Amino acid sequence: MGDTMATPEKVLKSSKQRDLVLQILRSSMCHPTADWIYEEARKHMSKISKATVYRNLKILKEEGKIRELSISPGIARYDGDIRMHYHIKCLKCGRVDDLPHVFPQVSIEDVGEATGYQVHSHRMEIMGLCPDCQNDGIRNNQMNRSPIL
Ligand SMILES: [Zn+2]
Ligand SMILES: [Zn+2]
Repeated sequence: MGDTMATPEKVLKSSKQRDLVLQILRSSMCHPTADWIYEEARKHMSKISKATVYRNLKILKEEGKIRELSISPGIARYDGDIRMHYHIKCLKCGRVDDLPHVFPQVSIEDVGEATGYQVHSHRMEIMGLCPDCQNDGIRNNQMNRSPIL
């Protein structure tokens, strides 16, 4: 019947750590990586370990309180906003932004009805260059451009 080592103090501590991780995610709009979340968490709880942050991210994900984004292969990014929304990613710096809510969204119910599939998930990923990287590109192009003869 459960973990006999889980004293009330331990339970309280781990729920505090989980709340902190959740708070950090909900208050940041940048879809951070686990490492970034760990650095933030340390500012509030200096003794928190990386393993603890990773473990809590996994639990929060399983509880459906956060989402893990698959938009960056190899690097998991997390989102504290679990409402349905799409993401747009910069191919140069890796920044991930939310797509404004004005864009129409695919209705999973409609897709299921139209195809007969039982739809489990869907994702739409938009890639491009963020405004900052576009500006960099213009500067670099101007510097590197060879004279047209
Ligand atoms: Zn960028
Ligand atoms: Zn998002």
